[in-house]
Order: sequence, then structure tokens, then C-alpha cells
Amino acid sequence: MNNNKCGCEEDNLDKKTEEKIKEDNKCDCGCDNESPEDNHYAAETEDCGCGENSAKHEEDTGCGCGEEHDESHEEGGCCGDIEIPDLSRVENPVNPKFLAEPNFFKEIEEYAHSLGISNIGYTLLTSDLLIKDQFIQYPFTIVLTMEMDNEILETPPGDDAKDLNDTAYVRAFILTTKISDYIRKEGYGTEIADPMKSKVNLSLLGQKAGLGHIGDSGLLITPELGPRLKVSAIFVSIANLPIKENNEHAWIPEYCEICGKCVKACPENALVEVDSCCGSEVEIVKKNCIGCNQGCTYCIEACPFEEKGYEHVKNKFDKINAKLKEKQAKYFDVKLWNKWVIENTELFKDLVNDFTMAIAVADNENMLQIIRVDNDLKVDLKPIDELETCNADLLFVMDEKTVEELFKDFTTDKFAELLSSKEIDVYGLNDQLELKTKGYIAFLNKLGISQGDGSCCG
Ligand code: SF4
Ligand code: SF4
Repeated sequence: MNNNKCGCEEDNLDKKTEEKIKEDNKCDCGCDNESPEDNHYAAETEDCGCGENSAKHEEDTGCGCGEEHDESHEEGGCCGDIEIPDLSRVENPVNPKFLAEPNFFKEIEEYAHSLGISNIGYTLLTSDLLIKDQFIQYPFTIVLTMEMDNEILETPPGDDAKDLNDTAYVRAFILTTKISDYIRKEGYGTEIADPMKSKVNLSLLGQKAGLGHIGDSGLLITPELGPRLKVSAIFVSIANLPIKENNEHAWIPEYCEICGKCVKACPENALVEVDSCCGSEVEIVKKNCIGCNQGCTYCIEACPFEEKGYEHVKNKFDKINAKLKEKQAKYFDVKLWNKWVIENTELFKDLVNDFTMAIAVADNENMLQIIRVDNDLKVDLKPIDELETCNADLLFVMDEKTVEELFKDFTTDKFAELLSSKEIDVYGLNDQLELKTKGYIAFLNKLGISQGDGSCCG
């Protein structure tokens, strides 16, 4: 096995392979065109400039592969018109092995790092990650991330940037093939996911493998490289991959919600903010994206993970979160809510033991739960995610201003007034019969609400 640590000879070989692949992918219409303006790398043209409109050119729309994709740009699937042949030097074993010694993963990782691979993750391929309806022999997946040269960021979209982008893909393919060969040599079966025309969503695979998380730009963001990377994968026969279940980068989309720099930086309206059930979200309009066919990287450049680095962004996010929690704590001061409950004991008197109500404040991560246990009213602070499991009968939702008003006037009358003016919304989370049985009719009447009259629980 050639485990070349210095990599000098291998590097030369890789460069030659890169050049050969790109040479082989030049115009096949017979025009022998070589100038950057006239070859296939020319952006958004169906004509190579030779006077012929070859079938291949006609197909070259969008990302350049002649197919339509809903997936995110770059790593999400097809990206480019380069055909890369199978570069494997080692055949798949006829009877592949299925179990590996734990040490073998360390060996693969060391070898991969020696080639320049940034990080390696392990996961299982599931049907939701498939882009194409094609057979993949093994679900056991090794995911690799590798750096994209800074040069591409310094090059404006166009032929040169596309060339650099294609080179990065070809390099990713070459390195992935080397690692695949290494694994095959040890007796395991492999299949390579072509990083340019993958049958699977590589960014999602990287996310599932815990290497990073997809941001609003649709790109995988990792601690080592931010969004400036290529992702590839090898499906292997090794059934005991060291798969990690948790993803410590799941906070990234939350940061994206307050960032939005990639959306602003995109010159092509390929990242569009649209309304969603939970506010707004960023939609990727694949057909507008020129990341593949012109090597555009504006969304990468603008991303704070690229500009400042992962740790810097994480620290900033933690500080913002700490401030938010401080603010939230103000509206969920359990002592004050306890005081409110005690002042309104009369309001709760007709309710059965174990009745449960929830109070949520808009945009807050927490909620309050009011419950009676052994005739004692108790107020608890809970994460909002528990709302579905806390079995509350009623849910009151208000904003921060309303909480401030309530804390100025602790009376039931004030609460009823805020309910009638719709400053507080009330929702029944239990069925009508159950609410009736638990004594909510009298409770709601005291607040000026009839059960099922449309203002509550209907
Ligand atoms: S900035 Fe460029 S690469 Fe990024 S989404 Fe927009 S067009 Fe695509
Ligand atoms: S630029 Fe901002 S919003 Fe876009 S992916 Fe990066 S962190 Fe997320």
C-alpha cells in the first residue's frame, strides 16, 4: 500500500490527473476550442463558439448537468459538467469484509489527513438523503470534508472561478478515490459518491455524520473550514462504523436566523427569504444559483463562519443567547408568577387536583406551567418543547408587554381585561368534555369566557 506521507510524487500525479480529466472534458463537438471564452467553462452559454450547437451544449443549463434539481447548490447534488472516470487502482474485493477493528478507523483517518482531508465522519445512508433513484450497495457511509482554496474566493464569478471550482471537485474526487482504494486493499467493499454528480445529498450526509450543520446558504458549515469546503462520501461494506448520534453544531441555523448575510450577498436572488409557518425561512432557488456554472462564492465570502471562524461565531452566539435568557428570565420570574397565582387563588378554586395550565410568552424558549398538587398551586418553568408533553389543559399566550402589564396589576379583573382585549390568547388543549369535568367552565366564566364560544377551546 502506498501510504505516502510527504505526498510530493502523489501530488504531481494528482495534478496530472486533474489536468487530464479537465482536458478530456473539453468541447466534444470537434471544434478543438481551447480559449477560455470559447470552451465549455464559458458561463451560461449553450454555444461553445465553434458555430455548432452540439447536443451536449443544449443540455447545459442551470448547474451544468442538464438536469433539474431542487437540492441546495454546490454540495447538494450535481454541480458541474465534468465527467470523471473511475480512477480506482484497486478492484472491489469479491467477498468483502463487513467488520473492522476499531484501530482501522484511526488508520483511515490518519491516511485521509495525510492526503489533506480536513475531517471524517460516519453515518448511515437513509432514503431521505437520496437525490436520484439509483442503487447504492452499502448504507454504511464515510463522509469527507476538504478545503476549497482561498483563490476561488478571490476570483470573481466567471470562467476562471468556474475552472477553480471544477478543479476543487476533481481534487475531491481524486482524494476520495485514494481513500476508497486504501479501504478496498484492506478487504472491504466501497462505492464512491461523485462529489460533482452525487446520487445523494452530500451536505446532508455531512450534517448527519456530525461534521457540521447546513446554514441558510444551503452549504455545510464545519468548525474547521466554515462553508469553504467540498464534501464527498464513500459507501463501504463496514457495518460497525463509529457513528455518532448527536450533532453539536445544531445551533448554526439559529445563528443564521439573526445573520442573513449570505442572502444579502447573493447577486442572483438564489437565496430568498420567504414567509413560513414560524416567521421566515431562506429558500434556495437552484436555477438562479451560479455557484456551479460560474464558480460564484459570494455567499461563502459573506458568511461570518468564513470571515471570523467558527469559534468566534460560537462565542458571539453564546453571548447573544445569554442576554436573551436574561431577558426571558425577567418575564418568567417564577417568584412573580407565584405571587400572581396566590393573589388569584379564588380563580383556580373550582378546578380539580392535577389541572394543568401553560403560559407562553411570544418568542420565548420557556413556558410556565401552573398545576395543583395536593391542593397546593405550583408554578414551574419548563422548556417550550415540553408543551406537547406537559398535558396542559389550557394554554395562555401573551407578549412581553402584556406580562409587564400583568405584573403591575395582579388582579383577576386585569387578567380578564387583557383576555377580552385579545392581549392574551387562550387555547384549549384538551377536549371539551375533559375541560368540563376538570371544572374549567366556572374558571372560564370568571374570566368572562364561555367554553366553546369561539374565544376559547372551540
Ligand atoms: S451567492 Fe452565488 S453561489 Fe451563493 S447562492 Fe448566490 S448565486 Fe449561488
Ligand atoms: S451567512 Fe449567515 S445566514 Fe448565511 S449561512 Fe452563514 S451564518 Fe448562516
